[in-house]
Amino acid sequence: RSLAELDAEVIGCRACPRLVAWREQAARTKRPAFADQEYWARPVPGFGPADAALAIVGLAPSAHGANRTGRMFTGDPSGDFLFRALHEVGLASQPTSTAIGDGLSLIGTRMVAPVRCAPPENKPTPAERNTCRHWLAAELDLLRPTLRAVVVLGAFGWQALLPVLADAGWPVPSPRPAFGHGAVLQLDDLRVFGCYHVSPRNVQTHRVTHAMVCEVLTSAAKVTGL
Ligand code: SF4
Repeated sequence: RSLAELDAEVIGCRACPRLVAWREQAARTKRPAFADQEYWARPVPGFGPADAALAIVGLAPSAHGANRTGRMFTGDPSGDFLFRALHEVGLASQPTSTAIGDGLSLIGTRMVAPVRCAPPENKPTPAERNTCRHWLAAELDLLRPTLRAVVVLGAFGWQALLPVLADAGWPVPSPRPAFGHGAVLQLDDLRVFGCYHVSPRNVQTHRVTHAMVCEVLTSAAKVTGL
């Protein structure tokens, strides 16, 4: 199957009852600011070209961000922060991401989430992560011919990604290296970078800054030749 076919399949998934209920409840209750909008309320597929050299692995859609807009990191403060950095280092066509159809494109970069439905408190369970894992594995398998770097935003994504890479034959060390901001793994022709998640909490406490994210993205872009 192609990446477009995978995207079409994933949006029909209802394998996690708790997350299906949560994503649909958010669409019914809505935030007042979005009261006139139709929420996506389905799994959010990856975003970016099928021949991407760089993947960005996040956590999961937020209830009123990507679960509303249907596009990764689109419509919430994490996305606002991330797209500004992506644009600054030349990986996004514009610094803002508001809705499908806003003209934004990613350059050589594909965003993927290890859990594709919005979870309560942005916290998927390990069981939900495991249930969703086959979608991540399938997406990375399709990207593999061109994929040369991955930027992982946060420990959850790191813990989700490494077993998938190991199962797909990349030489992930055992025991698995710990997540950290600035952690780098070279797995054959793939380089994996750890970066603190761009959550509002991390941004507000200055655990992660615009400069820190730009630095990781620049290193990853260099590896891929972007
Ligand atoms: Fe399906 Fe993943 Fe959503 Fe669970 S989180 S319902 S496996 S798409």
